[in-house]
Amino acid sequence: MDALRLPVVSSAPRALDAASLGLTARADARAEGLFDRFGRSHTYLRISVIEKCNLRCRYCMPEEGVPLLPKDELLSFEEFERLAGLFVRLGVHKIRVTGGEPLVRRGIDDLLARLGRLKAQGLTRLAMTSNALLLRQHLAAVRAAGVDAVNLSLDTLRPERFRDITLRDGCEETIAAINAAAEAGFAAVKVNAVVMAGVNDDEIVDLARAFALERPIEMRYIEYMPFEGNHWGERLRMFPAQAIRARLEEHLELEDLGLHETAQIYGARERSSGRRFRGRIGIISSMTEPFCASCNRTRLTADGHFRWCLLDEGEIDLRGPLRSGATDAQLSALIEEGLRRKKPGHAPAEELLQAQKAAGARSMIRIGG
Ligand code: SAM
Repeated sequence: MDALRLPVVSSAPRALDAASLGLTARADARAEGLFDRFGRSHTYLRISVIEKCNLRCRYCMPEEGVPLLPKDELLSFEEFERLAGLFVRLGVHKIRVTGGEPLVRRGIDDLLARLGRLKAQGLTRLAMTSNALLLRQHLAAVRAAGVDAVNLSLDTLRPERFRDITLRDGCEETIAAINAAAEAGFAAVKVNAVVMAGVNDDEIVDLARAFALERPIEMRYIEYMPFEGNHWGERLRMFPAQAIRARLEEHLELEDLGLHETAQIYGARERSSGRRFRGRIGIISSMTEPFCASCNRTRLTADGHFRWCLLDEGEIDLRGPLRSGATDAQLSALIEEGLRRKKPGHAPAEELLQAQKAAGARSMIRIGG
């Protein structure tokens, strides 16, 4: 990688407080469902099913790796099923399975099928985020389990660069798996690329053309976020949403579809030929234009900790109480306690890193992206 020699694009995210986000703390915010003090409703749970991964992406995990949990500290399938069922009864209707790499977890097809059965209890969307390396082997089982949508991560179309970023081979297999997923009948297939200045920002338009021009795949660009040990501000630098948009607009006309999602979603057309893209473009600006005011997400880590924000160190252990015989009411009380601690927004990058250092934070790979 030659990031050091390329221009640095700096970000100036501002501190987020309730007022700047238009959020008002309310003591009475609780109604039916999982609400926090600011009246944000939490209908989306991301479950990390394993911390292990078959890639070593520099922006995701520390170079020295992460200490892996002993197996008995990971939630069992029965425990995931119990907690996921509880979250669904509390108002969650979308679950995303992630990791680590979810397809590395032994028996993952069975776990997905168990989660898929929660559709009888109010779950409407089961999704998975994966690096796709093992997807082709699991595709039929993943579909049969009721997974409706997959987000597949790929930062480059170039095998050599793939190796530089992930420290493994697998570019061709990932592309083949994305192509197979596009034919498999999912309600949505999205490709996630983390954009880093001087690493892969020159492929922004190529990625859009490769996946979204001819097929209804959404090509999503994610701002690189700081995590302890992931080279933030050293070897890797963020390429901000605004610059991603500008780079796309050199070749494509973008039409803001006005959808209020975590990503800004665009339709696209080639400037030169007027040809319309079948798929959409998404830009996820977690750092420069955060979407905290409309955040509806909560997380469950592979070792059974409840987290209410990806970029806040707070978490509550659910596994201990679960294994000591806690009732659903007691577990619900812990989940509500966590949500009461959710802040209106996350801190700017440098403050986040300080807080992560002080807290001996989990890296992205250990939280579940
Ligand atoms: N192994 C799976 C995968 O690769 O998709 C799931 C876990 S991974 C942590 C989930 C997503 O988080 C991926 O799309 C990855 O690119 C993204 N991610 C990891 N570290 C990141 C960072 N520092 N900033 C932004 N996105 C990151």
